[in-house]
Amino acid sequence: MDRVKKLSSKLQAQGQKMTKQRRAILEVLSASDKPLTAEEIFLLVRERKENTSLTTVYRNLKKLFAAGLITREGFHDDKAQFQLLSDCHCHNLICLNCRKVVKIDECPLSSFAKTVGEREGFTITEHRMELYGYCSDCLQRAKKE
Ligand SMILES: [Zn+2]
Ligand SMILES: [Zn+2]
Repeated sequence: MDRVKKLSSKLQAQGQKMTKQRRAILEVLSASDKPLTAEEIFLLVRERKENTSLTTVYRNLKKLFAAGLITREGFHDDKAQFQLLSDCHCHNLICLNCRKVVKIDECPLSSFAKTVGEREGFTITEHRMELYGYCSDCLQRAKKE
């Protein structure tokens, strides 16, 4: 639950209230290891005996997204999937052959994102970068063959 606490303080730092509903949404997302749609979140929040409606869930998801607490994939409300913003900001190296993923802690993009955001009048809340190629194991194996 620490992650939820951290995100709560992030929300409060922006002058927003951490309501019971919002906390329930964050807890549901934190308990899930995959992204969830608004409807799935709604059902899980209701399972926690929290009085809510799908409309309320949508509204709170929009707020949490705007505050940079969750990520969103997809543009249609009913198909969009939400996830808690991950603790570590990582980028991935992905091997095209064996699909091995290596997480890289450093981010070369943050200052770039800021510059571009300012220039285009965007508030950038997240970005993604993945690097594809072949890992050393796969390269060695290819050499031997
Ligand atoms: Zn590989
Ligand atoms: Zn980055």
